[in-house]
Amino acid sequence: MRNTKIIRHDWTKKEIEEIYNQPLLELVYQAAALHREWHNAGEIQVCTLLSVKTGGCPEDCSYCGQAARYHTDIKVQSLLPTETVIAHAKKAKETGSSRFCMAAAWREVRNNRDFDRIIEMVKGVNDLGLEVCCTLGMLTEEQAVRLEEAGLHAYNHNLDTSEEYYDEIISTRKFDNRINTIQNVRKAGITVCSGGIIGLGETHKDRISMLLTLATMEKHPESVPVNALARVKGTPLENNPKVDIWDMVRMIATARIVMPSSVVRLSAGRIEMTEVEQAWCFMAGANSIFTGERETLLVTPNPGVTEDMQMFQNLGLVPMIKKEKVSSCTH
Ligand code: SF4
Repeated sequence: MRNTKIIRHDWTKKEIEEIYNQPLLELVYQAAALHREWHNAGEIQVCTLLSVKTGGCPEDCSYCGQAARYHTDIKVQSLLPTETVIAHAKKAKETGSSRFCMAAAWREVRNNRDFDRIIEMVKGVNDLGLEVCCTLGMLTEEQAVRLEEAGLHAYNHNLDTSEEYYDEIISTRKFDNRINTIQNVRKAGITVCSGGIIGLGETHKDRISMLLTLATMEKHPESVPVNALARVKGTPLENNPKVDIWDMVRMIATARIVMPSSVVRLSAGRIEMTEVEQAWCFMAGANSIFTGERETLLVTPNPGVTEDMQMFQNLGLVPMIKKEKVSSCTH
């Protein structure tokens, strides 16, 4: 049993492989025990994700319905007015969220009027007492500093998949671009939210490799979203098989063991999971979920807040209240 309060950054691929490949129940048991050493297992952080600019993205992430090049049913929406975003944030707070994440379908942040408006939104949401997170694409260090000064708590930038499999999924940027942005976020003193997606056609080795990259960072991401591919009609991955729940549980449990202090987020794909399946993910160490208004997570379906609160009640869970410098989100 790895019941220890030590955070390691020197994991080897072999060690993570051994953890990941254990019999599932043994893996879940270890993860659950470690989870209880580091976290209050009865608390789940609820994060609301709002798409503040939707669709029309020049990138070609093959899982994403917001890429302009794919013919999907997603309705393109330019940057929302600041007042609208603040109204959404107020509502999120009222319904139990302690964190509010704003997502814009951009390749990268540009120093223009839209970025000035994002800065205003960050200030406004921060003033409400919510942890504020953004996911806006690639970011320079200077832009990260501006966001930090406005009160940004976390920046989401997922690795998506392993370095080895990256080119199969995205051709318009490189894995190193992701790492650079994460480093810029760190240098600015913003917490990092970074995880990935399973179900893209990657192998177990790719999943282990992605976890290795995250778990050997100088500082672990404070938040690690684990997403199951949400298959969007019109994208190259629309016909991929549904992610097996035990693969999700295995991934979450391994993430929990190798990054014990991080918040592990059960992210996209919850709509296709039963309450029992989600309970397994919480047992394996997930301690955060996304909610989205109108029962969507960005542009894909997600359980509604009422349904989630009922699940919490059934499982004896409560929403985590805002903590200083605990983190999160997904793009
Ligand atoms: S995941 Fe983000 S960067 Fe990739 S296409 Fe979608 S919106 Fe653009």
